[in-house]
Amino acid sequence: MNLNELLNIKARNNPDSLLRLLVTTAVVSIIVVVMFSGYGFYRVFSGFVIKTAENNSVQLCRVLIEQEKKFIFVETPGKTVELGLNGTGMLAFDKSLRSFLSPFKIIKVKVYDAGKRIVYSTDPALIGKVDHDNLRLQNALSGRTDAKLVTKDSERDLTEERLLDVDVVETYVPIVDKGNKVLGSFEIYMNVTCYRQQILQGAALMTALLSLVMLAVFGFSYLLIRGGTGQLKDVQSQLETIAITDQLTGIANRRHLMKRGEEEFERILRSTGAHKKSLGCIMIDLDFFKQINDSKGHLAGDHVLHEVARRLKNCIRPYDVVGRYGGEEFVVMLPDTSFEQSLLVANRIRCKIRNEPFTAEGEQLGITVSLGVSGSGEGDRSLTEIIKRADEALYKAKADGRDRVSWVYHPFDTEIHS
Ligand code: GH3
Ligand code: MG
Ligand code: MG
Repeated sequence: MNLNELLNIKARNNPDSLLRLLVTTAVVSIIVVVMFSGYGFYRVFSGFVIKTAENNSVQLCRVLIEQEKKFIFVETPGKTVELGLNGTGMLAFDKSLRSFLSPFKIIKVKVYDAGKRIVYSTDPALIGKVDHDNLRLQNALSGRTDAKLVTKDSERDLTEERLLDVDVVETYVPIVDKGNKVLGSFEIYMNVTCYRQQILQGAALMTALLSLVMLAVFGFSYLLIRGGTGQLKDVQSQLETIAITDQLTGIANRRHLMKRGEEEFERILRSTGAHKKSLGCIMIDLDFFKQINDSKGHLAGDHVLHEVARRLKNCIRPYDVVGRYGGEEFVVMLPDTSFEQSLLVANRIRCKIRNEPFTAEGEQLGITVSLGVSGSGEGDRSLTEIIKRADEALYKAKADGRDRVSWVYHPFDTEIHS
């Protein structure tokens, strides 16, 4: 696996993008879980609260029948019990009953006789009407209690009835005498709007609690993972630096040098006309370096190489590229630099090395370098061609006596040749 492949893997899987992916996934999951659980809580609460409201309503009906039994039942001379609620009895019942309506959120009451006729209602317009087709009433008159949630958009029992403007539990409880004979049915409409609010509040509370727990768990995991990815990022960037750096000199290694050079060469190929880019190339080789190793030792030689690299860096601009090409050979690449300017830089490097003595093992050493200069030109198909010319120029500098700058023109560069 080469460096480019490694860097591509890094770009795709860098800790920051993995962390972003984690956050996005967590946020989406939290939203989905909270939405579904919110709905689930709502359904469970609704079932529970409505069932409770229905049971309460049945109990309330029974209590009202018991409470008002003196008005509801009348004893006939023959000692049988019948449904009362006519004449003055109804008025007294109405008065007594109304005191219970508001505290228990009852919005309507109907009392039926066994013939499905309404003998009493808090809505006087209904008194006397017969509800023939009411199955639930039929059930109550057969002795079964029946309580059910009825929403405000449901149908009315009788056409004369006003539409409800709230949700109610509509409850039928049979009115029976001591011998369990059904005399009629007691029906109440209990407003359950407050129960609805309880359901919403309960579901909202549970959802909020769940969200908090999820956020806390996620936040905690996020902090842990972020700590880990921070360390991973440091290690990754250290590895990346190691992969592109020459260990001895601290400048770019040959692989990175060539990669950067290729990038600059690509820019030249992409540019055209008046905006045509150029690239200067200087190859530098230490003169008689073997002798330094032989006389002062390898450590001293290493020290010299390190110091040469440092001086090279000081001679160039931040966006120029310098790298160790081989043992004691260095290459400098100068983007957007003319041939003449490259020659000037090469001379500056030569003087910087020659004029300031090196110190190794407490001794001063005079070091010189030979330099070969080339530049990009029309028709170059690869970076290697430019480097090859710099290498030829370096060979010339060595052959001509070292400690000098030589150059090789681009073959098509007739203007400079002449
Ligand atoms: P010339 O002027 O012809 O270039 O002579 P030279 O002695 O510099 O050239 P030669 O190619 O004969 O020797 C290069 C030496 O550089 C040989 C090698 O031991 C030394 N060298 C290469 N890499 C390193 C290194 O990392 N550390 C040290 N100390 N020496 C190195
Ligand atoms: Mg050498
Ligand atoms: Mg050499």
